[in-house]
Amino acid sequence: MATLRVHNATMLTMCDGAEPIHGAELVSVDGVIEYVGPERDQPGDGFDEQIDAGGAVLLPGLVNAHTHLAMTLLRGFADDMPLQEWLTEKIWPTEAGLVEEDVYWGTLLGILEMLRAGVTCYNDMYHYPGAGVRAAIDGGIRALPSGVLLQFVDERRDVSSATEFALQTRETSPERIVPMLGPHAPYSCTPEMLTEVAEAALEHGFSIHIHLSETVNEVEQVEQQTGMKPVAYLEKLGVLNAHVTAAHCVHLDDGEIAVLAERGVGIAHCPTSNMKLASGFARVPDMLERGAIVGLGTDGASSNNRLDLLGEARMAALIHKGYAGDPRVVNARQALEMATIGAARAIGLQETIGSLEVGKRADFTLVSMAEAHNQPLHNLCSQLIYAAEAGDVVLTAVDGVVLYERGAYPHLDAERIIARANESAMRLTRS
Ligand SMILES: [Zn+2]
Repeated sequence: MATLRVHNATMLTMCDGAEPIHGAELVSVDGVIEYVGPERDQPGDGFDEQIDAGGAVLLPGLVNAHTHLAMTLLRGFADDMPLQEWLTEKIWPTEAGLVEEDVYWGTLLGILEMLRAGVTCYNDMYHYPGAGVRAAIDGGIRALPSGVLLQFVDERRDVSSATEFALQTRETSPERIVPMLGPHAPYSCTPEMLTEVAEAALEHGFSIHIHLSETVNEVEQVEQQTGMKPVAYLEKLGVLNAHVTAAHCVHLDDGEIAVLAERGVGIAHCPTSNMKLASGFARVPDMLERGAIVGLGTDGASSNNRLDLLGEARMAALIHKGYAGDPRVVNARQALEMATIGAARAIGLQETIGSLEVGKRADFTLVSMAEAHNQPLHNLCSQLIYAAEAGDVVLTAVDGVVLYERGAYPHLDAERIIARANESAMRLTRS
């Protein structure tokens, strides 16, 4: 039995309406939360590990609802370009040179960055998902891996092999690895592929990770090809019968937002990527008002270029105010929810993670409020969203295991990972 106790913390459980608890304590046994609440006089003894939080904020681990993690290798490689040109002229030709080891080291590089930013779980869609799974297992982090199903790549990545991969991963990996099926998008997959994915997802109980309505162009393309809006098209193909995480959802009409809300589709909002690629403003205030499930994602590090969920939450809180001309939309609490419990709901893991509750997994992070930019402290949510930064994270744990603490990674050789990822990046981009 492995027991861990964190005390002397200011805890935000992110449960509905819960206020911060000062002088709080969390105890986990074998990776499961056994106690959260005010610090007890006699917490018991014999803990394997005790952490004095020194008054730092104890939050559920942040959840990245959409990324392509090994794209860290292409961070800063092609910036300030339109999406289609960026994809077809720079990203896809370079990715064609990827080998498994690149994905392994690129994924681990992303894991280092996310742990340092308080992120404990990510929803990943990328090539060579087997290498991604290996990296997630070695990295100790929680992950939802899927390959990329595209109509124009070779048949090795077709739906049945993706399903086979997901089945095998589920059987042979620790519980914190939750495989998904990853059809790239309605415009880049054939209707047959999408139907097959929907059937396989239902048959085997997998969730689906897909891009949806990221740009005006692709929406027009789907409309021209099918006579339908993308959401109606996915509904007709049966995709929305499964649990679905849809990334971006920038260009939706009222009816589409209503359908996604009714069907409980998880929306992975990626504001930085949408701003950087000038894709547009997702209608997040309308989605939240309609009761849709919205979580935050960073997208890949080549369209962000960070994997910083607190920064993403800040971006979300700010851009929608500016766009709507209304400072009341996407308030600090909502932004923080989208980075924690909202994102957990969006990827279908709300029973396991996303808030600090007895019975959930002990995925958490400690954020220091001691530095000048976080003082004075009037409102915790406001501070975390508008003032704090990723560098304020002092500790990150997954399943009750500390994976990052004050610049150090107890279970990972950060220097080696950075060196190997750089070797891969240089080889890929040399030509
Ligand atoms: Zn993406």
